[in-house]
Order: sequence, then C-alpha cells, then structure tokens
Amino acid sequence: MTTYDIVESPDETTVFGYHDLTPPTLADVYEARSVVSRHLSRTPLVRSEFLSEELDADVYLKREDTLPTGAFKVRGGVNLCAGLDEEFRDPGLIAASTGNHGQSVAYAGRAFDIPVLVAVPGDPNPDKVAAMERMGAEVHPVGRDYDDAREWAEERARTEGYRYVHSANEPALVAGVATAGLEVVEDLPRVDTLFCPVGGGSSASGYCLTVGEMADADVVGVQSENASAMYHAWSEGHLRPRDDADTYAEGLQSRVPFALTTEILRERLAEMVLVSDERIEAAVETMLLEEHLVLEGAACASVAAALERSDELAGQTVVLQISGRNLAAEKLRAVLD
Ligand SMILES: *Cc1c(COP(=O)(O)O)cnc(C)c1O
Repeated sequence: MTTYDIVESPDETTVFGYHDLTPPTLADVYEARSVVSRHLSRTPLVRSEFLSEELDADVYLKREDTLPTGAFKVRGGVNLCAGLDEEFRDPGLIAASTGNHGQSVAYAGRAFDIPVLVAVPGDPNPDKVAAMERMGAEVHPVGRDYDDAREWAEERARTEGYRYVHSANEPALVAGVATAGLEVVEDLPRVDTLFCPVGGGSSASGYCLTVGEMADADVVGVQSENASAMYHAWSEGHLRPRDDADTYAEGLQSRVPFALTTEILRERLAEMVLVSDERIEAAVETMLLEEHLVLEGAACASVAAALERSDELAGQTVVLQISGRNLAAEKLRAVLD
C-alpha cells in the first residue's frame, strides 16, 4: 500500500507528494483531446434565438449538459484516468464532490476499471448520489459542505493510499476540460466574450487556455455572491478561504480558492463577476421556459451574468458555457411552482 507525506500546499487544501501544479499547455490540451475523443462525443454549440434577441447579440450555448454525466467535468476525469500511474489502480481513486466531479471520476473509473470512493457533503443532491452509485462508485456523505468532505477525503488518501483526485489542482483535469474550448474554436473561430461559471475554476481555466488564447476572446468568470472564494482570490491576489459557500448553485460551492486555477485565471481571465443566487434561480427558470432546457443552477450562472450586462454585449459574438443539467428534482418543482 502506498502512503503519502503531505507536502506544503500553496492553498488551504492538502497537496500530496505526487501532485504537480504546473499549468497545462495548449499541447497538453491537444494530447488530452486524443484521449477524450475516444470516450466522449463532441458537444454541440447551439445558437440561442431567445438570448440573441434579448442581448441584441449572437449568442451560442456550449451544451456540456449533453455529456453522459450531464456535466463538463467528465472530460477531465477521462483524461486523468487514462494517464494514471499503475501503482494507483489499487486501492483506486478518492474524490470529494457535491456531485458532478464525483460523477466524472466514477464514469472514468468505470471506463478504466479503477475503484472509486467519493465523499459528498452530509446533505447532498440525491440525484447526483444515485448517479454516482449507478456508475459503480462508493459514496460517503460527511460534514456540512464540500470543503468538509474534501478534508475527509484528503485524510483518507493520506492514510489509506488512494489516489486523491482534487477538483481543480490537477493539470490533467484542466487539460481534459479544456478540450471543450478546442471544439468551440473549431465551430466558431471568432468569439468576443465567453461567460463561464467558476467553482474551483477548472472549466474557466480550460477556456482561457483555448478560446482565450487562440481566439483572443474575453473569458469572463462568474461566481455566486454566496460562494465567492475564487472571485476574491482572483481580484485581490491571495488564496484566503471564505467562511461560507452556501449557494443555490451547489456546483459552484467552495470556501477555498485553489492554487493551480487561480494562477491560470490571474494570468489570462479578462474579468470575474458575481451574480446573486436569485438571478441564478431566475435564469434556471428562463432557460426552462424559453429554451426548454433543464439546467442546474451552476450552468445558469453564465446566463445570469450575460443577462445582467446586456447593454455591453450588443453586436458581439457571445458563448455561454452551459456546464451541466443535474438540477435536483425539488428545485425543478420549485421553479415550476
Ligand atoms: C463543477 C461545476 C462548475 C464549476 O466548475 P469549476 O471547474 O469547478 O469552476 C460549474 N457548473 C457545473 C454544472 C459544475 O458541475
């Protein structure tokens, strides 16, 4: 059994000896694509007639909700598992997640025949838990929120030798999720602004490395006012945790800003904005009623941010990262009422 000595981490998370915090390059993203494209179909980039009219712009939705797990993260899970060191196949992978990162690791673990244990907050989205279990992962609820679950998983990794899969401090995950950005560039070479929801920042980092770099687009990160750790880290230049991250959009929940993604975003992100949970929930309703799409709160953060700045976007080509569809049934009912 492998055990790890904790090495000094630049942020509040534990980083194990095997961890590498070197930002991926565009070459890494192309390499990831050759792996990811063997396991996952490319996702559609669809013009939104409704939002194009609302914003007086050309608005496209990058439909990551169409991936088999219902969220973009599986691109990263597949890329990480494909390159996993043999020594980690037993006992396998451990992750902490509010659901979509766990589904990504569960999906990829199943594809590569690697056991997966996922720590979730004590009061998780039950649909996401069921989905992880369906894909063969063991799910362990613990603590009050994502960061409690993360600390539990990090400790288990240290004492029991699992390969801990961080949701952001993983170059292979960032390179994997960045393959979505290559698809956008190929489908739509000229983009002015791309809005991307930010939790730990892996997705926005991926778009910075691709659409930001290759198409010279402004990549705008979006956080909830109630979970703004990365917003503060990015705008104030530190890695200090917040006291809370209690947001309607559980996919964006993190009290702690992460070192790797903060470094990439500080270098390349055009702007970071905050939206209220009320606006996010309203955007879930808008997307349901106008686009007939069931999307989770996290995905609608980009829609909410674009709608808030409608006056600045007129005439632009705008892409919205539609990051996932795993809306809890009770939230869907609340929107319909
Ligand atoms: C994880 C997640 C996000 C946030 O992505 P990060 O890469 O952690 O910033 C946004 N939307 C959905 C649906 C997610 O699952």
